[in-house]
Amino acid sequence: MTDRELLLEAIRATEKAYAPYSRFRVGAALLARSGTVYTGANIENASYGATVCAERTALWQAVLCGEKEFDTLAVAAVQADGTPIAAPPCGICRQTLSEFSDGSLRIIIGTPDGLRTFTLRDLLPEAFGL
Ligand SMILES: [Zn+2]
Repeated sequence: MTDRELLLEAIRATEKAYAPYSRFRVGAALLARSGTVYTGANIENASYGATVCAERTALWQAVLCGEKEFDTLAVAAVQADGTPIAAPPCGICRQTLSEFSDGSLRIIIGTPDGLRTFTLRDLLPEAFGL
């Protein structure tokens, strides 16, 4: 699967977002080493604090299916007016992803002009670990 194909999966996942408060829709597509792609979308909550990001819903779905090794995560976001916007993973998602990566996980961020590629280590150079 190419980076662009994975990003398209993330873009499609934005349609599944539950975002009645912010109307900021985020989609994620996580490519496991097995070759399976797991998608996620942000799920908001009236308490705001209980809101869950797209990256973590994708990761949790993958882990619940027995996956623990991942190759690439693609993230896409759409603003309330439908305009695409770059949305790198938040700090909580970076730390959560680090539980299942030595930092080499590739992260693709969709932008209005295409895509940008990082590693998890780029975005979280000193991850907490026990
Ligand atoms: Zn997040």
